[in-house]
Amino acid sequence: MENTSLLLKNTVHNGKTCDVLIENGMFSKIADSVKAPADCRVINCNGNLAVSPAFYNTHTHAAMTLLRSYADDMNLFKWLQEYIWPVEAKLTPHDIYVGSKLAMLEMIRTGTVFFNDMYWYPMETIKAAKEMKLRAAVGMLFLSGADAEAEAGNNAVNQELEEKRSWIEEDGKIRLTLAPHAIYSVSREKLHSAACKSGSENYHLHIHLAETRSELENCQKEHGMTPAEYLDSIGVLGPKTILAHSLFLTPSDIELIRDRGAHISHNPCSNMKLGSGSFHYQEIVEKYGCEITIGTDGACSNNNISMLEEIKFAALSAKRQAHDPEVGKDTDIFKAATCNGAKAFGIDGGEIAVGKVADCLLVDLNNPLMVANYSFVSNMVYSADSSCIDTVICGGDILMLHKFIEGENEILQEARKCCRRIANI
Ligand SMILES: [Zn+2]
Repeated sequence: MENTSLLLKNTVHNGKTCDVLIENGMFSKIADSVKAPADCRVINCNGNLAVSPAFYNTHTHAAMTLLRSYADDMNLFKWLQEYIWPVEAKLTPHDIYVGSKLAMLEMIRTGTVFFNDMYWYPMETIKAAKEMKLRAAVGMLFLSGADAEAEAGNNAVNQELEEKRSWIEEDGKIRLTLAPHAIYSVSREKLHSAACKSGSENYHLHIHLAETRSELENCQKEHGMTPAEYLDSIGVLGPKTILAHSLFLTPSDIELIRDRGAHISHNPCSNMKLGSGSFHYQEIVEKYGCEITIGTDGACSNNNISMLEEIKFAALSAKRQAHDPEVGKDTDIFKAATCNGAKAFGIDGGEIAVGKVADCLLVDLNNPLMVANYSFVSNMVYSADSSCIDTVICGGDILMLHKFIEGENEILQEARKCCRRIANI
């Protein structure tokens, strides 16, 4: 294994200069001065690079970077039915591979080391993540209502993924999940079989929930229940379930989600851009005590996948919704995007502490956006942008060193080629 040890020399942690040693992908020592073991790689931080937890993006569609700016400023269903679904039907596996790599470039530059993905041709995203050395949870798509041929194709893709599960998951960074798209696009039978499989074969389950008012109203009409109650009646809500959006929840839905230990992925930018509705942060987090996580959704409805931007919007939208500046505190939002995201997927990370997985960022304290620096977390949530992120480390692997990512130009060139073809579809 590459980088069995890595020393962050004279980094800044909790406002103090210290050394941080990483061994076998974990933080092994944090002290005023640590002697580098033999053959240890050293990054000199010179008292100017602060070590920070990295971000865990709990809801995205990575390869949609190729559709960034393809269709904007319209209602979710018009957007999906008239623009996104027709063009997606013509995307090739190579597009997905390249689009996923393009997404990973952006994730790395903006400090993300893990993403929870739901998209077509998941094997291509897995291959790209393995090459780029990010952590990822990649979903096996479940959809109903497509024609028999499309359904058979989808089943074959999922079967191949399941057969290759041990290869996919062997490095400990990538995992397969079950990804039934939403309650309006997946039958009750398929949702039930996904719920059973999640329990019996230890898969996380990733689904969009209560994203629009019409989803709530249609579910109440058809099933006499809210979307959260409907999922619970099928056995879908549990500690391995990730619920994207979760906008139209009743107080008893929130209690149900909390009591089942399911995880909400809050996607503020996408919700605002699609005009879907408001996330009731104060109620969900502060009144009912749900531990939320943060996700960007795809680059087509955001239009970037920067967790740095997402956390600022999460904090500001919470305050605006509650008409109260004390709601959506920087420390809570930062924890949601780091520790809580990691915890939702059983990753012992999101913190700079001995024994935790060595996922971290080196943040440039000489960047004007980080001066003054009375509160590092406040600066990360309200001020920083990607120009502040100097280096990104995931499980001890260096993904970006002093802003350099290997192979970046080739990925950008290939992505532009794919976009030219898509523009002519
Ligand atoms: Zn989504």
